[in-house]
Amino acid sequence: MMAELLIDLQNVGRRYASGDSTVHALRGVDIQIARGEMVAIIGQSGSGKSTLMNILGCLDRPTSGSYRIAGREMSSLDPDELAALRREHFGFIFQRYHLLGELTAAQNAEVPAVYSGLTQAARRHKAEALLRRLGMGSRIDHRPGQLSGGQQQRVSIARALVNDPDVILADEPTGALDRASGEEVLRILDEISASGRTVIIVTHDAGVAQRARRIIEIQDGRVISDRLNSRGPTQAQTTAAEVPAASASSWWRSYLDRFREAARMALLAMNAHRMRAFLTMLGIIIGVASVVLVLALGKGSQARVLKDINRLGTNTLEFFPGKDFGDTRANKIRTLVLADAKVMAEQPYVDAISPTVSTTSTLRFGAIEVSAQVSGVGEQYFRVKNTELAEGSYLDADTVRSYAQDAVIDDNARKALFPDPDVSPLGSVVLIGKVPCRVVGVTKQQQAGFGSSSTPIVYLPYTTVQARFIGNQVLRSISVRVDEATPMAAAERAATALLTARHNAKDFFVLNTDDIRKTVESTTQVLTLLVAAIAVISLLVGGIGVMNIMLVSVSERVGEIGVRMAVGARRSDILMQFLIEAVLVCLLGGALGLGLAVGFGSIFNALDVGFQLIYSPLAMVGSAVISMAIGIGFGYMPARSASRLDPATALARE
Ligand code: ADP
Ligand code: MG
Repeated sequence: MMAELLIDLQNVGRRYASGDSTVHALRGVDIQIARGEMVAIIGQSGSGKSTLMNILGCLDRPTSGSYRIAGREMSSLDPDELAALRREHFGFIFQRYHLLGELTAAQNAEVPAVYSGLTQAARRHKAEALLRRLGMGSRIDHRPGQLSGGQQQRVSIARALVNDPDVILADEPTGALDRASGEEVLRILDEISASGRTVIIVTHDAGVAQRARRIIEIQDGRVISDRLNSRGPTQAQTTAAEVPAASASSWWRSYLDRFREAARMALLAMNAHRMRAFLTMLGIIIGVASVVLVLALGKGSQARVLKDINRLGTNTLEFFPGKDFGDTRANKIRTLVLADAKVMAEQPYVDAISPTVSTTSTLRFGAIEVSAQVSGVGEQYFRVKNTELAEGSYLDADTVRSYAQDAVIDDNARKALFPDPDVSPLGSVVLIGKVPCRVVGVTKQQQAGFGSSSTPIVYLPYTTVQARFIGNQVLRSISVRVDEATPMAAAERAATALLTARHNAKDFFVLNTDDIRKTVESTTQVLTLLVAAIAVISLLVGGIGVMNIMLVSVSERVGEIGVRMAVGARRSDILMQFLIEAVLVCLLGGALGLGLAVGFGSIFNALDVGFQLIYSPLAMVGSAVISMAIGIGFGYMPARSASRLDPATALARE
């Protein structure tokens, strides 16, 4: 009785384009193999055996002719369908074993079952059972580097069998082995054949071919003889020990398994090149750290400046003579006078108002003498400026009206004149220039930072300063606190119109603290974004580094990719493996960068330079997302090129 026809090659040809010429590796090959046969394909080196083997195992396609497996035409299948076929129907044994060096014997044997979707427990059990049956029970957790050639080949046989294939394809399986190990491998192949599987052995060794029942000889890509071997085993014996049937897992669990396998391989690959992985990450680390730090610095310094501005009050307007602070003619403008302040005080949008005049003089108390700024102010000045007192009282309307020689000193002046903190300056008489004044109040210490200085300031009624120090009626400025209910812009417009009308010209300028705050806010924001953008460029450079290393990693592991494809990995499995590696490198880099930023930040904050870093949660989450995106973005190209490799070519490069 004729057994079922399994493999049917009709007039198969395979041409290789090599340079300008074409190599005809196979020419018009007709081979039919029935299920359960044991066939040896023999021929000299270069005769086309490996080419034939690759076509039989669906690792390569014929350039002409037809190949059917169990009646199904192969030429119409896409790469993933071919991968499925390899997974389900073929087991490969290679001359050089092609084991994955980072995996143990059992893990190597399991690989095809990962791609075919066996549950983890089932494939583990099955791989171990096979290894035990092949006499490798004590080597289950050894890596290929710890095994002899014969032992490695037995692991690769276990791998070939783990998915219960119909066909075992062995390309020179004993070619790299000593006589005894080779003999052992051949005995195992005999057993596999005896269990009912189709076994096809490719060899150049006539002695090996004699083990088969049928010998096909090829030369220069043609079949020159196809005969039954009278010395081979005549009939298949059944073997007792069978491998337990295994259950497949659900599709999502199987997907998860493949994801885990991909992640494990990615981690192993990173672990194998720790230094390289770290250097690759460095770009991402520096990029993420600088983005996060720059944003935190920007936010921190902005908060600091705004706090100072807010302390001055965000609702004050200040009118100065001239076009702006740099106006050199401002001294000659004598139009800003007390009457202006008086008229403005009656406007509904004014909450408090104070004219100011200013000069410098020396302060003297006892033996101590310092130079100070003398500020002549109205009684509402302290309300306009939001100034708080440490002790004593403010200047009041009476003192202003009566040209009183009462002074409020600031903290700097107090420290200079009254070094002993237990002695209250209140009631003491200090000499300001030649004018003796009584201290009635002390203002609170200003915080260091924006707008602060160490020059002592002494506040006197503006009437006193005009009469005793300056000798004219011109004001330095008019300070206005705008009523809460009025928008700053509207108040500024109305006050400007009023003053312009009174002066018949706009010979003054306005300082609006609200404007200052907004300007500070937007400038620091723009600056921060600018510097952050530069930092982002370093992230991009880091990404290019990742891409570069991934390309290296792919080209280093072409052989591994070939093996995985041979045992049935889909393109998506390969893509995922390399993409995960790229993403892991970037995520780890991002995490280290974040750690670096936070570490640096705590040192910075401990140094107490006047402001604290403020980390934005958005920047932190963003940096994780961005590093992942960089991994995907820059890892995709190398990963895709890996997944597009041709399995036969990839294997040949091992
Ligand atoms: P064997 O396995 O019998 O030694 P091969 O099948 O490897 O022979 O090669 C058959 C012929 O095809 C040889 O002449 C070889 O040089 C050529 N060949 C094999 N692979 C390629 C390839 N990828 N590109 C070009 N020529 C190839
Ligand atoms: Mg070969």
